[in-house]
Amino acid sequence: MKTEFDCQQCGACCAYFRVSFYWGEADDAPGGTVPAQLTEAIGPLRRCMQGTNSKQPRCVALGGEVGREVACQIYAHRSSTCQELMPGDDKCLKARRHHGLPV
Ligand code: SF4
Ligand code: SF4
Repeated sequence: MKTEFDCQQCGACCAYFRVSFYWGEADDAPGGTVPAQLTEAIGPLRRCMQGTNSKQPRCVALGGEVGREVACQIYAHRSSTCQELMPGDDKCLKARRHHGLPV
Protein backbone atom coordinates (compact mmCIF):
# COMPACT_ATOMS: atom_id res chain seq x y z
CA MET A 1 0.00 0.00 0.00
CA LYS A 2 1.30 3.44 -0.92
CA THR A 3 1.63 5.59 2.18
CA GLU A 4 3.88 8.48 1.22
CA PHE A 5 1.03 10.94 0.80
CA ASP A 6 1.37 14.05 2.94
CA CYS A 7 -2.04 14.73 4.46
CA GLN A 8 -1.03 18.32 5.23
CA GLN A 9 -0.73 18.92 1.49
CA CYS A 10 -3.97 17.11 0.68
CA GLY A 11 -7.20 17.19 2.71
CA ALA A 12 -9.15 15.45 -0.05
CA CYS A 13 -10.92 13.04 2.30
CA CYS A 14 -12.12 15.95 4.46
CA ALA A 15 -13.79 17.38 1.37
CA TYR A 16 -15.34 14.31 -0.18
CA PHE A 17 -17.18 12.09 2.34
CA ARG A 18 -19.97 12.66 4.80
CA VAL A 19 -17.97 12.33 8.01
CA SER A 20 -20.37 10.65 10.42
CA PHE A 21 -19.94 8.96 13.78
CA TYR A 22 -21.76 7.83 16.89
CA TRP A 23 -23.25 10.84 18.66
CA GLY A 24 -21.40 10.03 21.90
CA GLU A 25 -18.09 11.00 20.29
CA ALA A 26 -19.10 14.65 20.56
CA ASP A 27 -18.05 16.58 23.63
CA ASP A 28 -21.53 17.13 24.99
CA ALA A 29 -21.52 13.42 25.88
CA PRO A 30 -19.38 11.97 28.69
CA GLY A 31 -15.91 11.25 27.32
CA GLY A 32 -16.66 12.72 23.91
CA THR A 33 -14.03 14.83 22.17
CA VAL A 34 -15.43 16.27 18.93
CA PRO A 35 -16.67 19.85 19.49
CA ALA A 36 -20.44 19.42 19.40
CA GLN A 37 -20.97 22.87 17.92
CA LEU A 38 -19.15 21.72 14.78
CA THR A 39 -21.46 18.74 14.29
CA GLU A 40 -25.03 18.20 13.15
CA ALA A 41 -27.46 15.41 13.89
CA ILE A 42 -28.23 12.98 11.09
CA GLY A 43 -30.41 10.65 13.12
CA PRO A 44 -31.12 9.73 16.72
CA LEU A 45 -27.74 8.08 17.23
CA ARG A 46 -25.43 9.64 14.68
CA ARG A 47 -23.89 12.99 13.92
CA CYS A 48 -21.67 14.29 11.18
CA MET A 49 -19.18 17.10 10.84
CA GLN A 50 -20.86 20.25 9.64
CA GLY A 51 -20.20 20.89 5.99
CA THR A 52 -19.90 17.23 5.07
CA ASN A 53 -23.61 16.45 4.70
CA SER A 54 -23.66 18.20 1.37
CA LYS A 55 -23.38 17.52 -2.35
CA GLN A 56 -20.01 19.25 -2.25
CA PRO A 57 -18.74 18.26 1.16
CA ARG A 58 -16.08 20.15 3.03
CA CYS A 59 -15.62 19.71 6.74
CA VAL A 60 -15.99 22.92 8.72
CA ALA A 61 -12.85 22.03 10.68
CA LEU A 62 -10.64 21.89 7.60
CA GLY A 63 -8.47 24.94 7.14
CA GLY A 64 -6.49 25.77 4.01
CA GLU A 65 -6.75 24.75 0.38
CA VAL A 66 -7.30 21.14 -0.65
CA GLY A 67 -4.35 19.78 -2.58
CA ARG A 68 -2.01 22.54 -1.42
CA GLU A 69 -1.78 23.17 2.31
CA VAL A 70 -4.40 22.12 4.86
CA ALA A 71 -4.82 21.50 8.56
CA CYS A 72 -7.51 19.93 10.68
CA GLN A 73 -8.33 22.52 13.31
CA ILE A 74 -9.56 19.89 15.75
CA TYR A 75 -6.94 17.25 15.00
CA ALA A 76 -6.48 16.01 18.57
CA HIS A 77 -10.26 15.86 19.02
CA ARG A 78 -11.33 14.43 15.67
CA SER A 79 -13.71 11.48 15.46
CA SER A 80 -12.86 7.81 15.16
CA THR A 81 -14.06 8.02 11.55
CA CYS A 82 -11.33 10.54 10.79
CA GLN A 83 -8.72 8.59 12.73
CA GLU A 84 -9.50 5.35 10.91
CA LEU A 85 -9.02 6.71 7.38
CA MET A 86 -5.41 6.02 6.47
CA PRO A 87 -3.25 7.56 3.77
CA GLY A 88 -3.19 5.15 0.85
CA ASP A 89 -6.33 3.21 1.74
CA ASP A 90 -9.27 2.82 -0.64
CA LYS A 91 -11.16 5.85 0.68
CA CYS A 92 -8.07 7.99 0.53
CA LEU A 93 -7.44 7.06 -3.09
CA LYS A 94 -11.08 7.64 -4.01
CA ALA A 95 -11.04 11.12 -2.47
CA ARG A 96 -7.71 12.01 -4.06
CA ARG A 97 -8.93 10.89 -7.48
CA HIS A 98 -12.05 13.01 -7.07
CA HIS A 99 -9.91 16.07 -6.40
CA GLY A 100 -7.56 15.31 -9.29
CA LEU A 101 -4.63 14.50 -7.04
CA PRO A 102 -2.11 11.79 -7.97
CA VAL A 103 -2.66 8.29 -6.58
S1 SF4 B 1 -7.12 11.76 1.16
FE1 SF4 B 1 -5.43 10.49 1.94
S2 SF4 B 1 -3.58 11.74 1.74
FE2 SF4 B 1 -5.36 13.08 1.57
S3 SF4 B 1 -5.68 13.87 3.66
FE3 SF4 B 1 -6.99 12.07 3.38
S4 SF4 B 1 -5.77 10.34 4.14
FE4 SF4 B 1 -4.36 12.06 3.82
S1 SF4 C 1 -12.54 16.73 11.62
FE1 SF4 C 1 -10.53 17.12 10.75
S2 SF4 C 1 -9.82 15.14 9.96
FE2 SF4 C 1 -12.02 14.98 10.30
S3 SF4 C 1 -12.96 15.50 8.31
FE3 SF4 C 1 -12.84 17.38 9.51
S4 SF4 C 1 -10.93 18.37 8.92
FE4 SF4 C 1 -10.83 16.22 8.27
